[in-house]
Amino acid sequence: MKVTSVEIFEVDTEISPYWHPVIVRINTDEGINGLGEVGLAYGSAQSAGAGIVKNLAEDFVIGSDPMKTEKMWDTLFHSTFWALGGGPVVFGGISAIDTAFCDIKGKALGVPVYQLLGGKTNESLRTYAGQIQFGWGPTTRWCTRPEDYAEEAAKAVADGYDCIKVDPVILDAKGDYNTAIRGVLPHDQVTLFYNRVKAVRDAVGPDVDIIIEVHSILNATAAIQMGRLWKEFNCMYYEEPVHYLNVDLQQKVTHNVHIPVAAGERLYTRWGYRQYFEKQLLDIIQPDLGLVGGITEGKKICDYAYTYDIMVQVHVCGSPIATAAALQLEAAIPNFMIHEHHTYALKEGNIKLCKQNYQPQNGYFDTPDLPGLGIELNDNVIGSPSYVVKELR
Ligand code: MG
Repeated sequence: MKVTSVEIFEVDTEISPYWHPVIVRINTDEGINGLGEVGLAYGSAQSAGAGIVKNLAEDFVIGSDPMKTEKMWDTLFHSTFWALGGGPVVFGGISAIDTAFCDIKGKALGVPVYQLLGGKTNESLRTYAGQIQFGWGPTTRWCTRPEDYAEEAAKAVADGYDCIKVDPVILDAKGDYNTAIRGVLPHDQVTLFYNRVKAVRDAVGPDVDIIIEVHSILNATAAIQMGRLWKEFNCMYYEEPVHYLNVDLQQKVTHNVHIPVAAGERLYTRWGYRQYFEKQLLDIIQPDLGLVGGITEGKKICDYAYTYDIMVQVHVCGSPIATAAALQLEAAIPNFMIHEHHTYALKEGNIKLCKQNYQPQNGYFDTPDLPGLGIELNDNVIGSPSYVVKELR
């Protein structure tokens, strides 16, 4: 089998001007195709994500054998110059290609991808309701007052979830984005962030787990300041308390708050995770399969984490393809902790991109048993690709 063309879709949705899934479909001479996604649907890099796949497709992927997933990964790692320096763009491209190859391989062999990863270890995947500060359900709502947070948390619990995730700092008191908050925090900010989490705990009661996420917006001082206060709410874990550019900041926070710590959605490859493992800075890792190096690399990182007693919550913030890829890996790994279901996974603009609509029931997901990832594009919704790279004859 060989790759004959690569279609790249930089998708616009009506969900938000800041939501652009980058989807890749790789076609072969045997009529089997595979889907992958660059994990850059949010932030400001989607065009780079589409562009890197175009370049990798032209230089390496067209004409290659998609059954040779390991060979392609290593070729892209060593032959693209930029991969040896890391980063979301080149590894976003490698991730999308690897995931599409895994999809093709599963379809060619007639098995779901989890069978390629060791088979099913987890029959059912506990799932949390993510990012409730943007509203839980089909419509978006920017929460500001603590009672708004309480209402959205209660909606998720009513849907059957026994775990929710909230970012109490990303929106300020007026509902504008906070992008950088530097401690020592003043009393009014501390009170607002504290009261939002308190409102969630009061709304859901003692039996629902709460994950506090801060998107690396706080600096180390503020992360410790708030982490010490939030401890009383018995939180399950504290996600991305600081950024990744100085590992000593993570060490300072991990050693000074007494809540389990999670991070990893902005780390790439085994080499990116290495010092976090060796220094034992994280309790839970959150590799994004659209950024970390795809399913092939993601599986290796999960196994590497297992040697340090670290659990895994795959980061899922993309189109339904990102969900499908995560479910396949999570079904297989013994150190699976919980599945992330982002509130954007409930939005019609996202759901309609694909033919299958995978949603959890009562807070638990079943991994699809269809060959490959088990998901297909809705061609009439997604429209024409931004780029098509074809074999030159
Ligand atoms: Mg996050």
